[in-house]
Amino acid sequence: MSRDRQTIGGCPKCKSDTMTCTYNHFQNDELEIHSWEHKCPDCGHRETSALRSDEEDDAEDFPNGDRCPFCERTVAPA
Ligand SMILES: [Zn+2]
Ligand SMILES: [Zn+2]
Repeated sequence: MSRDRQTIGGCPKCKSDTMTCTYNHFQNDELEIHSWEHKCPDCGHRETSALRSDEEDDAEDFPNGDRCPFCERTVAPA
């Protein structure tokens, strides 16, 4: 499991500069998950998104799983 958190600011609710964008990547033999979270510690605003390799609905978006669906930043390859 790898994790990448950055403070990006620009909360859509309170405009706080402290909102964070967190990416988590999980992989085992059969399952791979890309998950993203935007969270504002000031007002509690939270958005999450997850793409799973075992979900047919996610297949189209899965190749772009290392790009945040909210702010469109990408994770540098490890
Ligand atoms: Zn906020
Ligand atoms: Zn983001």
